[in-house]
Amino acid sequence: MQQQIGQWYEKHGEKAVELSKELWGYREASLQEFKSCKAVARFMEGEGFAVKQIDAENRGGEPNTVVARWGAGKPVIGILGELDALPGLGQEALPHQAPLEGPGHGCGHNLMGAGNAAAACALKEAMEAEGLAGTVVYIGCPAEETLQGKVFLARDGYFDDLDLALVWHPGACDMNFGEMEMNAMTSVLYKFYGRTAHGAHPWEGRSALDAAELTSIGSQYLREHMTEKCRLHHVYHAAGEQPNIVPDFASIYFYIRSQDDYNEELVRRMNLIAQGAATMTETRMEMEVKTSCHGYFCNHTLAKYTYEAALKVPALAYGEEDYAFARELYQNVTGNPAPAETIPTGLKKPDGEVKYSYGSTDVGEASYVVPTIQVFGCGAVKDMPSHHWGIAAGAGVGIGQKAMLYAGKVLAQTGYDAVKNPKIIEESWAEFREKFGTEKPYVCRLK
Ligand SMILES: [Zn+2]
Repeated sequence: MQQQIGQWYEKHGEKAVELSKELWGYREASLQEFKSCKAVARFMEGEGFAVKQIDAENRGGEPNTVVARWGAGKPVIGILGELDALPGLGQEALPHQAPLEGPGHGCGHNLMGAGNAAAACALKEAMEAEGLAGTVVYIGCPAEETLQGKVFLARDGYFDDLDLALVWHPGACDMNFGEMEMNAMTSVLYKFYGRTAHGAHPWEGRSALDAAELTSIGSQYLREHMTEKCRLHHVYHAAGEQPNIVPDFASIYFYIRSQDDYNEELVRRMNLIAQGAATMTETRMEMEVKTSCHGYFCNHTLAKYTYEAALKVPALAYGEEDYAFARELYQNVTGNPAPAETIPTGLKKPDGEVKYSYGSTDVGEASYVVPTIQVFGCGAVKDMPSHHWGIAAGAGVGIGQKAMLYAGKVLAQTGYDAVKNPKIIEESWAEFREKFGTEKPYVCRLK
């Protein structure tokens, strides 16, 4: 590992851990990462970055996004972090279920917010020490869980000048190097407006709830006629208050996931179903598109070089205290005795095989603008389901914190290698151009 990267972590690693704890404590939901944003901004300013805090939606609201820059000229190494928590997953940092009211870091984004910021600082330190030209940009992004943050940021050009984008996301598995493809996702809130009436005189009313339910039923029939990688899921946001009042308002919220090139078609068909439901019930339908995010695809070149960088970093190691916590957590979550390897620490060597994930990440949006890698894994107890209190618990203790420091070194080393060896950026872009047939394929789908 480059010497100054190691030295930065020796001197400042504990500060990064404190930041991750602070974010873990704030546990702010998507687009409300106000305190988290301030905390990360303060940290980056302290490290000598020029920091801007912005509202990702660009509506003049309270800032929820940190953009921190250091250096000058090319190459521009982008490192992206995430800040948001998940509703209803508040949890104490304990190995048994101990709920706290409100959101919790059930996806470990506090580790990304702090750990990936630390990576940017260590990379800066290494470049400064050797007098290397180039720019380091850290973006602490909001609202990954709703797949909005990076869509807004890509739309507004925040990734345009990056030569590479590097991300680490914790997970309950060995560290892999992003050899996956993930679904694109559009989320739509279908809102129905009807006419209210007494429940005993329902012919006088037009039920908005009927329209929402028919939209759900229509979506079940659509499943047979969509391609196999698609996923539809929904919840009701409004469904009336009491049975003796015909609801004049109802809303149903859909996540519409598919392969990237099929997403617009699937959304078109879903919209027709909602419109049809409105026609059937003589209600009026309005739709609110919350986001429309591209799928994530792998840049194999960058995967290979990131793996090579990871091999230069001393292995991730845990102590007995971590393992004791992990064993107890494992048993409480799964009901089974913990396996010998309770906390993943390994590296999965890239082999060119792409695994398809039916989930989505808004890192996908960046992957359409610039060669991007999301390194995924480590920082959670083995087999923890994602979006779970067990992840939140691990993200608040050494299990997550040690992985965060390790992964940050991997990202910093990757950035350093790319600054020293221009081939890494050139080859990553060659693969990017070949995939898309152009250097600028990105079109924001969010209107
Ligand atoms: Zn996540």
